[in-house]
Amino acid sequence: MRGSFLQFSPPLVGSEEVDAVIETLKSNWLTTGPKTRQFEQQFAEYVQAPGGLALNSCTAGLHTALVALGIGPGDEVITTPITFAASVNVIEHVGAMPVLADVEQDTLNLDPARVREAITPRTKAIIPVHYAGHPVNLQAFNTIAEEHSLVVIEDAAHAVSAKYEGIPIGGTGNPTAFSFYATKNMTTGEGGMLTGTPELLERVRILSLHGMSCEAWGRYGKGGSWKYDVVAPGFKYNMTDIQASIGICQLRKLSEFQQRRRQVVDAYRAALAELDAIQLPVERGPIEHAWHLFVIRLREGQLKINRDQFVEQLTAHNIGTSVHFIPIHMHSFYRKKYGYRPNDFPVAYQNYQQVISLPLNPSMSEQDVTDVIEAVCDIVKQNRLCKVAA
Ligand SMILES: *Cc1c(COP(=O)(O)O)cnc(C)c1O
Repeated sequence: MRGSFLQFSPPLVGSEEVDAVIETLKSNWLTTGPKTRQFEQQFAEYVQAPGGLALNSCTAGLHTALVALGIGPGDEVITTPITFAASVNVIEHVGAMPVLADVEQDTLNLDPARVREAITPRTKAIIPVHYAGHPVNLQAFNTIAEEHSLVVIEDAAHAVSAKYEGIPIGGTGNPTAFSFYATKNMTTGEGGMLTGTPELLERVRILSLHGMSCEAWGRYGKGGSWKYDVVAPGFKYNMTDIQASIGICQLRKLSEFQQRRRQVVDAYRAALAELDAIQLPVERGPIEHAWHLFVIRLREGQLKINRDQFVEQLTAHNIGTSVHFIPIHMHSFYRKKYGYRPNDFPVAYQNYQQVISLPLNPSMSEQDVTDVIEAVCDIVKQNRLCKVAA
């Protein structure tokens, strides 16, 4: 067993990021400015999006997209129970009603068939989440949206550098929100990016900085003016140049990061494939996976221990893990407000009880990968349910 604890998802920053931050600190411009603009352009280019707007989180991107699209009280927005609370909280923030629809058994992504059943005359948008980095069935969601005049807002917190039908996530023109939180595939500490059409991004740009018609960089530069107008009661969601300078470095390294993630995935697949007790993640459809998470599922009737005990044993083996996610409808706010019961979304609920996210990040060494594999194999071996011969 390894001697030190293997952190589930440490950030990978090097001297490039340190140097870039110092350069920005010495530049006399700390908040939204030239570095942020550069990061936006380079990120939009990377995901082949018509435009990018850097924000202080993915949550801010989802929230401001809803506001800019005029979604509010009386409207319904359909999303998945298998996500982080932020994807659903933002729907509450604008006063609309979140409507959950169950997930697909294999990908655990929002199921287009369940979404169709959930549509009402009040439905205005769908927020699918590219869970673990596996793109959702975008073709189905875009078709549904067209038929019912809805907007698809993609939660791409897990999906930077994923592709659907050869097109990067973010590249279709749907409003798409990315996260640069410390555990995500690339980080700025905290941060996010909204991609979409220039028209939408222009509205969100104003909303993301107090609703002011002109931002500080324009106002305080030479030739700028002290004059501004507040055209909407906006938010304080802008990214700083300090964050953007980290983002520019991370973006440069992203392909390398992704390559390493895939190597770890291949090693996990090769070593864990023979374990009957474990179901490995699928890759289905015309997609390229971003491999944010490697989510295994414990098969029922194979082990003496449940998921929680399996997680405890991995911790005892010094392996950091996580569970993605406690379904939205099981959190007390949503449970109480909408009267949900666990089995209202049976696929989400049943799979929630089986999932474990193994460490998957580019800072993992060969030894780290081997340690995880050995721990999983060991725990399975020690806890196999002996089947009585017929
Ligand atoms: C991390 C995450 C978010 C929130 O991202 P922030 O940048 O922290 O706001 C939203 N949705 C999903 C699925 C996430 O995993």
